Amino acid sequence: MTQNLKTQYDAIVVGGGPGGSTAATLLAKAGKSVLLIEKDKFPRYRIGESLVPGIVPVLEELDVLDKIEAHGFTEKFGITLVWGGQQEKWSVDFDEAGGAGHGKAYQVVRSEFDYILIQNAREKGVVVLEDTAVTDFLFEGARCAGVSFQGADGRDHKAFASVVIDASGQANLLGRRLHDIEVVEGLKNRAVWAYYQGGTVPEGKTAGNIIVENNISDGWLWMIPLHDGTHSIGLVAPQDAFRGRDAGEMFAEKIAESNMISGFLKDATQVTNFRSHKDWSYSCSQLQGEGYYLVGDAAGFVDPLFSTGVFLAMNSASLAVKQILASFAEPQREAENGAVYEANYRQFLDVVTSFVKFFYDTKKRKENYFNHARDLVDPMDMMTARQDFVYLITGLGGLHQSMGLRPTEALANLAKRSKPPVETTQTKQPSLEEV
Ligand SMILES: Cc1cc2nc3c(=O)[nH]c(=O)nc-3n(C[C@H](O)[C@H](O)[C@H](O)COP(=O)(O)OP(=O)(O)OC[C@H]3O[C@@H](n4cnc5c(N)ncnc54)[C@H](O)[C@@H]3O)c2cc1C
Repeated sequence: MTQNLKTQYDAIVVGGGPGGSTAATLLAKAGKSVLLIEKDKFPRYRIGESLVPGIVPVLEELDVLDKIEAHGFTEKFGITLVWGGQQEKWSVDFDEAGGAGHGKAYQVVRSEFDYILIQNAREKGVVVLEDTAVTDFLFEGARCAGVSFQGADGRDHKAFASVVIDASGQANLLGRRLHDIEVVEGLKNRAVWAYYQGGTVPEGKTAGNIIVENNISDGWLWMIPLHDGTHSIGLVAPQDAFRGRDAGEMFAEKIAESNMISGFLKDATQVTNFRSHKDWSYSCSQLQGEGYYLVGDAAGFVDPLFSTGVFLAMNSASLAVKQILASFAEPQREAENGAVYEANYRQFLDVVTSFVKFFYDTKKRKENYFNHARDLVDPMDMMTARQDFVYLITGLGGLHQSMGLRPTEALANLAKRSKPPVETTQTKQPSLEEV
């Protein structure tokens, strides 16, 4: 396959997760020649199963919503929490955001979801290479002009393009090479999770909700009902809490401490081993440059508390493609277009990160969380604070706001951002890869 490849494309995309597939598909739909290079053979395992309604407009842009809908993934209409100063259960329904958004998302088996997206990219004309690892980025002066990669045939190849999109996830390929990674202080967590069969779920419309519970001594638990009959159950806790502990033992202890999730798992059996992942929130100090864009986890990662990862990956890709297409049309505006992406997406990442940080203060009551959401997305007080909260966690709130920025506003905001609004430390080599 690799020997018949062209060596020049309009765009090269590194990584075939939701960020990479979205960028590649949208560029191909716009008539551009696109090469997508993916290290693994799909379908491949990924964590990140609970989606938010903010992905629906992008699924529509990709012409793939019907396939996702028909696949039979669990329908998710809201979230159920035991969280904050009051320890009774509370739920919010995505519909509560009123006309502002979509009322439904999905709980997905990521190997299946990501496979549908990458197949859709192929159908739209993207040249997809799996089992093929990008080994380096090629520069002409300061401009990123292509990649070298090792094909499934074991041989080394080079390909060139007008723009390279790094969607390599937490491998952070370009970010680690060119820039700093800003790790968010206070969100240096670790996650451990496993799958269970035979548990129960809540009744009625909340049956497909993600359940988030923090009435345990350290951290919080998730429960996600999947359409294959399993429950994804996870623990997120500060990295330090795991020191000297066996992760599986700690997980079992926290489940036993919980009220709600332990009840749903009463007759369930653990059917997989534990998996564990470093779960630090971070963003790259620069999200684009001459000839390149970073999208998804390659640009930044926010703690999974509000299930925003896939949403951020797909929306950052969609935002980046809009600027890339504008630059194809008017190459003399490339730097300005790149800066608009940088400012828009940076602003949105900052909103989500600061809300997650606020939410981690578990002594607050739910009304405090609602009011803080209002401050972030609805300063004119157009909706109730509870609606603002729902609007924000659907993913539609801050996105709507930052996508509305005009270039001049975006650039002014970027100039103002002398330092991030959340405390960070910088590192060149964050070593965030799976362990
Ligand atoms: C514990 C935990 C729980 C989470 N829960 C949720 C959740 O409930 N909901 C949610 O939306 N998100 C969740 N996330 C986040 C979510 O997993 C990610 O944000 C999402 O997968 C990012 O998509 P992406 O396309 O940027 O990267 P990825 O999905 O990671 O895709 C990157 C791709 O790049 C490929 N790649 C890497 N290196 C190379 C290379 N050298 N050459 C070619 N290809 C390469 C990889 O093989 C991979 O397929 C969670 C994350 C963690 C850690």
